[in-house]
Amino acid sequence: MLTVSHVSKRYGDMLANQDISFTVEDGQIAVLLGPNGAGKSTIIKSICGLLRFTGSIEIDGKPNKSMEAKRLLGYVPELPAVYDLLTVEEHLEFIRRAYRMEEDGQYAHVLLERFELLDKKDKLGKELSKGMQQKLSICCALAHRPRVLIFDEPMVGLDPHAIKELKNLFRELKAQGCTVLISTHMIDSVEDYWDVVHIMKNGRFAASRRNGGSENHSQSLEELFFEITEGGTEEGEQA
Ligand code: ADP
Repeated sequence: MLTVSHVSKRYGDMLANQDISFTVEDGQIAVLLGPNGAGKSTIIKSICGLLRFTGSIEIDGKPNKSMEAKRLLGYVPELPAVYDLLTVEEHLEFIRRAYRMEEDGQYAHVLLERFELLDKKDKLGKELSKGMQQKLSICCALAHRPRVLIFDEPMVGLDPHAIKELKNLFRELKAQGCTVLISTHMIDSVEDYWDVVHIMKNGRFAASRRNGGSENHSQSLEELFFEITEGGTEEGEQA
């Protein structure tokens, strides 16, 4: 479970996140939807312990910067972070050792196979295409079997096979009771698996919507998105 309470983040004079509060329960997929510059990456980096912020963030009740919280967390950054001089297989080995995992490399191989990287296992990070780096970044985030997963614009640069695998993976993580948070500006990439969507604008949640919730929304997600991001409307509702 992820709990974000009254988080604000300033870059100099620029207020990139303004008093953001939300929770993502176990077995839930939450989506942050918003145009470029809305503040999605900023809240994600705060959650992942990469930025200083005001407010509090807890992962399964533990402060997000604690070792216990970090062990539970898997993060796919917006730009793939791979090591130039480690091979694909060595990346996974590095994760296994960093997290002192006792299992052998079987699960790592399953992940690599799933994302069509097994035949690239001896290639160096710097020899991979952007899309392959993104797939490796996803495998690395999953390798220590985290319970809370944060994906920042995960579809960008992926081929159709990888997009399909990733969508299947989201559904599997949900079925396993994991907590999943995905940020995207591509509405159609999330339409069939989200539980709750928060539409961000100017560093705040301008609207929140639950899938299959009791509210009877006649508007599609896309219509709501454009009304909010291109119009002046804000629902102001928070989960
Ligand atoms: P999104 O992920 O929704 O595209 P970001 O969280 O990256 O948005 O950015 C939110 C705002 O904060 C933008 O106006 C962006 O220019 C600004 N910003 C992001 N990172 C920095 C930074 N390191 N220094 C100064 N301003 C930043």
